[in-house]
Amino acid sequence: MPTDPATVPSTDAVLRWPVEPAQGGWYTRAEREAVRAVLAESDDWHVGWKPAGYVGAFEDAFAGFTGSRFAVAFNSGGTALEMLLHYLQLDPGDEVISCAVNFVGPLIAIIGQGGKPILAEPEPDTLNLDPTDVERVISRRTRAILVTHWNGAVADIRPFLDLADRHPNPVHGAPLIIVDAARACGGRTPTGARVGAEGWATMFSFESKKLMTTFGQGGMVTTDDQALAEQLRWLRTYGGTEHWGTNQMMTKAQAAVGLVQLARLDEMNDARIARAHQRTRGLADTHELTMPPVIDDRRHLYYRHNLLVPEAWAGEGRDELMNTLAAEYGLGSIINDRPPYLFHRLIRAHTAGQRCPRAEQLTARLLCPCLHPRMSVAEEDEITDAVRGATAQIARTRSTS
Ligand SMILES: *Cc1c(COP(=O)(O)O)cnc(C)c1O
Repeated sequence: MPTDPATVPSTDAVLRWPVEPAQGGWYTRAEREAVRAVLAESDDWHVGWKPAGYVGAFEDAFAGFTGSRFAVAFNSGGTALEMLLHYLQLDPGDEVISCAVNFVGPLIAIIGQGGKPILAEPEPDTLNLDPTDVERVISRRTRAILVTHWNGAVADIRPFLDLADRHPNPVHGAPLIIVDAARACGGRTPTGARVGAEGWATMFSFESKKLMTTFGQGGMVTTDDQALAEQLRWLRTYGGTEHWGTNQMMTKAQAAVGLVQLARLDEMNDARIARAHQRTRGLADTHELTMPPVIDDRRHLYYRHNLLVPEAWAGEGRDELMNTLAAEYGLGSIINDRPPYLFHRLIRAHTAGQRCPRAEQLTARLLCPCLHPRMSVAEEDEITDAVRGATAQIARTRSTS
């Protein structure tokens, strides 16, 4: 299998700005003190590392923050997603629709729980799942629609709820709306609600690159469905006395630090949004590049700042731009994300015969240069200059060759 050219270059060693910046590195005194307190108290063997109190407090705070009835913490976003799909008890042939431009995780979870992933196209501007194309692929076998708030642009959930109502499964009723908000923690939806309050259930990740992090791993599900919340609690602790389950608990230290990160989330997201808007303004006169949409009120968190090169540069020209940025400016960039069926063998096998040409065309033009909320205004100016300079170079070489 060819190696995946999703990141350029494959090593960060020569780069001033890494390909994939981690959010960790922005812990304050408050996080450090929370960890110190947990460490000190857990030294007492009467207390130890039992997570219950801390995890419960983090869950309550998270449910309150998102405006959902329940929040259930997990050791990762991936396991949280897997357990959400486990709850559906998918039969062979049951279908779950998701976007062709996606992280591998959602598709792996559908396959892992015995479902058939059905791919639909992204919208051209946000690259979020396109409801119109979901209408094309929805069927009597559809059990769920898995909507990823891709790269921080918050999708409108309402069209999917409407579609589900109009296409009930003959046995199970309206397909359920599962939201992957790994990249949109703290965002607001078009109705003004917090991400996590809409749809049947929403998954969050606190992995090291995400918008907030619990020591580099962690996840959460929010839902208003009490039966789901109860079942998820069994699933993460060996099934109670009745069910199947395994151990997917978040630790006490992760929950303690999560409480602090949650309180700081809006501040961290606002810093990221400010840098993203600065970049969009700075590149406004670079006509070759299409900017990500500017959507205010925390409706776009810019987990990545997506740039699209002209159609004529798709593939090769985009790769040249990424290589030039890395080699001559020390700026790393990533293609987040190519359609997973193009490079992931298992996903390709389970989506055989499905192609999403719009997804392939758009991601052949896509690059996401490094963006981090801790970048200074001056540093962001340097990055904007680098992107402008490298784009002009590519434009020159392509017009003369
Ligand atoms: C990170 C991520 C996940 C998985 O979360 P983990 O906590 O890393 O398992 C799922 N979906 C998307 C879109 C992600 O970015």
